[in-house]
Amino acid sequence: MATEELKASVITEIETRRHQLSELSLKIHANPELGFQEFKAAGWLTEYLEESGFSVERGICELPTAFRAAYGRGKPAIALLAEYDALPEVGHACGHNLIATSAVGAGVAAKLAIDTFGGSILILGTPAEELYGGKAIMAERGAFDNIDMAMMVHPGVNNFVTTQALACQALDVEFFGKEAHAAAQPEAGINALEAMLQSFAAINSLRQHTKDTARIHGIITDGGKAANVIPAHSAGNFIVRAAEDSYLDELKEKVINCFIGAATASGARLEYRWGEARYAVMLNNLSLARLFRSNLQSLGRKVRLSDTGRNFGSTDMGNVSQLVPSIHPFVAIAPVKVLAHSPQFAQAAASADGTEGLLDAAKAMAMTVVDLLAQPETATRVTEEFRRAR
Ligand SMILES: [Zn+2]
Ligand SMILES: [Zn+2]
Repeated sequence: MATEELKASVITEIETRRHQLSELSLKIHANPELGFQEFKAAGWLTEYLEESGFSVERGICELPTAFRAAYGRGKPAIALLAEYDALPEVGHACGHNLIATSAVGAGVAAKLAIDTFGGSILILGTPAEELYGGKAIMAERGAFDNIDMAMMVHPGVNNFVTTQALACQALDVEFFGKEAHAAAQPEAGINALEAMLQSFAAINSLRQHTKDTARIHGIITDGGKAANVIPAHSAGNFIVRAAEDSYLDELKEKVINCFIGAATASGARLEYRWGEARYAVMLNNLSLARLFRSNLQSLGRKVRLSDTGRNFGSTDMGNVSQLVPSIHPFVAIAPVKVLAHSPQFAQAAASADGTEGLLDAAKAMAMTVVDLLAQPETATRVTEEFRRAR
């Protein structure tokens, strides 16, 4: 079958499943689950994949809500990544229900290409993107070892195919001081809250001398118990981000020095712990991004190569992109003024535009699989670009 004919068939296949896919997406949306607790979502997705002819392994990488669904055998092995975790309070305000369902829709349609050309398609269920960097853990545990390329599509407010994602790591900090009556004997106390406030001031000074794209932000989670008791304990959570992995290392040291300085000045004892998962910088595979872009454009969307805004987040897809050629494009489901992680974005993720975004994302990914399998030279281009970039 010619490439164009096969692309038309995968589009028809996804259209045939329009209602099933949209129902699956809405069901996940209506039952938001936090990272590593996505049992319902993982259950529904794997059930659908099994019914559609995939062989499913649940709980891979010792993560109960991760999964791997495979169809076909041998090379190339193309992975489509499904995220399905929600956020506290605002539910599916990042639209991961659409990410999951578009990967599933694309995978089921891509079976047609596998039946024609061989190779294999894998849907990888990657939990806890928001809070714990599930893909970073899965990458360390070998989930991407035999994979040749990886794709996922994130909902957003613009259509574009390359993502600028910063490297980042979370940090927990505690100061331990000494209680005393704040009026009667202030000289006898050691103020752990003041140590935390001085740390914020030092970080704010540091900010003047960091690179433009660096980000340091934090909150105080314990600032004392009563105004008339000198706080003996304070605690905070921080995130440090940078556009290069090496600069993140440099910045992490400078940030810790801010806390050490405050500990010395206040006399409070410092304890800190870096988060387990470190999100890597996103390495966009342009050859793969261009293939995806022309497929998404053929569906009637205007698609930019990159975002025009200064839209810097971080994603654990960065860690995948360091191991295999990857893309993490965005498909518009809401007007530009709608902010990610807002209640308005959560509404969009369950709207008619949300469903159209999921279907277009699924179609464009399945069509890209057709390109990669029907014209092996395109797959070679993707792989060679990755080798040069590493
Ligand atoms: Zn998010
Ligand atoms: Zn997200």
